[in-house]
Amino acid sequence: MTGSNGPRAKPIPPPPLAEPLPQLADTIQPHGVLLVLDPAADTILQVSENSQTHLGVAAQPLVGAPLSTLMSPEQGEALRRVAPAIADRPLPLPLTVTTPAGPLPCDGFLHRTATALILELEPTIATAPADFLSVHGLVRQTLDRIQQADSSLALLQSVVAAIQDLTGYDRVLICQFDAQGAGEVVAEAKGAGVSSFLGQRFPATDIPPAIRESYAQGKLRAIPQIQAEPVPLFPRLHPPTGHPLDLSRAVLRSSAPCSVAYYTNMGVASALVLSLCQARTLWGVVSCHHLTPKRLSYEIRAACEFIAQMAASELANQLRQEDLQQRAKLSALRSELIASITQAHNLMDALIQPEERLLTLVAASGAAICLGHELTLIGTTPTADQVQALIEWADRHITEPLFHTPCLSQTYPEAEAFKATASGLLLLRISRVQHYLILWFRPEVIQSIAWAGNPEAGVQVDAQGQIQLGPRTSFALWRETVYATALPWQPFEISGAIDLRNAIVGIVLNKADELARLNQELQHSNRELTAFAYAAAHDLKEPLRGIYNYANILMEDYAAILDEDGLDYLAEIQAFSQRMETLINALLRVAQLRQTQLKRSLTDLNHLLAEAVAIVRASRPDIPFELRLPRSLPQIQCDAPLLNEVFRNLISNAIKYHDRPDRWVEVGYRDPDQGSRDAEAATPTWVFYVQDNGIGIQAEHLSEVFKLFKRLHPQERYGDGAGVGLAIVNQIIERHGGRIWVESTPGQGSTFFFTLADA
Ligand code: ADP
Repeated sequence: MTGSNGPRAKPIPPPPLAEPLPQLADTIQPHGVLLVLDPAADTILQVSENSQTHLGVAAQPLVGAPLSTLMSPEQGEALRRVAPAIADRPLPLPLTVTTPAGPLPCDGFLHRTATALILELEPTIATAPADFLSVHGLVRQTLDRIQQADSSLALLQSVVAAIQDLTGYDRVLICQFDAQGAGEVVAEAKGAGVSSFLGQRFPATDIPPAIRESYAQGKLRAIPQIQAEPVPLFPRLHPPTGHPLDLSRAVLRSSAPCSVAYYTNMGVASALVLSLCQARTLWGVVSCHHLTPKRLSYEIRAACEFIAQMAASELANQLRQEDLQQRAKLSALRSELIASITQAHNLMDALIQPEERLLTLVAASGAAICLGHELTLIGTTPTADQVQALIEWADRHITEPLFHTPCLSQTYPEAEAFKATASGLLLLRISRVQHYLILWFRPEVIQSIAWAGNPEAGVQVDAQGQIQLGPRTSFALWRETVYATALPWQPFEISGAIDLRNAIVGIVLNKADELARLNQELQHSNRELTAFAYAAAHDLKEPLRGIYNYANILMEDYAAILDEDGLDYLAEIQAFSQRMETLINALLRVAQLRQTQLKRSLTDLNHLLAEAVAIVRASRPDIPFELRLPRSLPQIQCDAPLLNEVFRNLISNAIKYHDRPDRWVEVGYRDPDQGSRDAEAATPTWVFYVQDNGIGIQAEHLSEVFKLFKRLHPQERYGDGAGVGLAIVNQIIERHGGRIWVESTPGQGSTFFFTLADA
């Protein structure tokens, strides 16, 4: 609404809800007469200077005269009787004043100050309500509507409509105050062509504490003619004290010049303000504006006051109910979120899908979810880097699981840079160990509000060079007080966040327990499976040996009586049982490896490799090859016999899966800090490799080759591999805490890498 482009209409100042004056006037408005009486209500001590106009008698002769000059002895007697019980709240009394022109019916108001009894007289007028219904009918109808309203907004709307009908004021609005005293126009009824203030806000500084206090006491304030000339008292000072009289409770008290300017600024000529109080706290006000002077009868003012009082008490019920409904809604939302977290596999997804849910939970406009190293931002937030820095700060400085502030820059000055999105922070630490946090953000209040008038237009200075107290000066003052501040986090939002934390902690812990249990079960069944494989393989060996031996006996002793086919079958039996023995041995080896304890010692890998190569050369004298060693190998902590087995397997594969005569195998390593993929590990991790110029492996088989009994070629090609060697190698490397992988270009060769931590 403060757009800077194009011609701008004359700014409309915010609605005045009260007179923005710190001190109250000691003059009265001219539509009535004020008499100051002695405490016993016998004698007139002071009179407003307009007595001639209304009562037909000048002020001077009335001072010192008995009250009976103005009324019948019966009325005077009645006044004297009630006087001792009169308090500081004006009591309405219908009176008939004796004037030279005859009896004058007046609305009288009697109240007491610390030093005097004050009788105010307003000549009675009869104003009909704007609506065709009688005052009584309108009030009754309004009360019905108020009681039937199904929302606080509907209730307030029926109040403004009724008060407009009753008073005929051009604009009737209701302003609600927040905890800081800033107001927002939440309901409005107005005539055609009258400008609207609905939805607009005004700063707390618009209402000084003295005025706010008088409204909190449930006062009605009527100013029939803003521009009317104020009338002083005669004599000006109160005779018994010699000081100006305290008129703060007087119905007729006039508005101070600043207040007049405030209303006039807005084009308002007449105003009526009614307070809406709950338990003596000012919740808001009904503010009525008329563009021309307008006087209301006491009857109508009293009806308005009654409606306002009824509305305030019904409103309290309605708000309590809405609050409960809101809490129930949030609690349902929280339960729904917790249910999704319980069922989800992924905590992050459960939290942020849908995004709106997490934000609505605490009425935030943005949030950051940090789960370990994963950071996700939703809604309107500072940048990821800013959030990261904020989290690091919180890790160092916030020990409590919950932290909330409406003004983050007070504790974390860097937040000034992103006050527009995150002046308010609600931080929930779910787990310090796992580094799980949720941060909710609220924008600076000033960003989120529709302001009446143009706040940037500056201070207004009048013709005399005086700074005019008005909405814009007020705004500037107010802006200071809410700088970098968001709307405060409500207690039920905070407790909702704590509930959420407890639920997540419970769920995360449960999941961790469940995982640990599954892990244990898995380890157990793994052990059982290994034991089973070992026992089965072991027991199979004996009958197998029997089959082989009997086949041998048959071959040696009965060859003569068998024909050629019989001999072939026998040879097959021998070959099959031999192969089966190889497989069983391999199985036994794998099972054994799983169970054996590693025996690490500092080993010179150069010696170890030399031994392994010697064994390979001895077992395959038919396959000559060149060993390439770019540099000597390091000494590391490892189980030497097992690592020997690793090199033997890898080197024999390297020379076996080959179809060229010029075979070479290169063994080397990368420096721990260069090649290590486990750069964060505490101990240096070596990456060794065994490279060949053999046939290579197709990309789709690269991970397959480490599986037990996996062979890529038929048995008759490239020798009689059982598909076990790499499974054993894998097992040994894993037992050492390392990993193995292969890179290869088919037709050019393969490189097997494995890591070993120098534990
Ligand atoms: P095997 O005992 O049959 O050699 P391995 O477990 O050692 O079994 O290897 C599994 C399969 O991986 C082999 O059958 C072979 O096809 C493939 N392989 C292993 N090493 C190499 C290599 N250096 N070059 C090409 N293929 C290889």
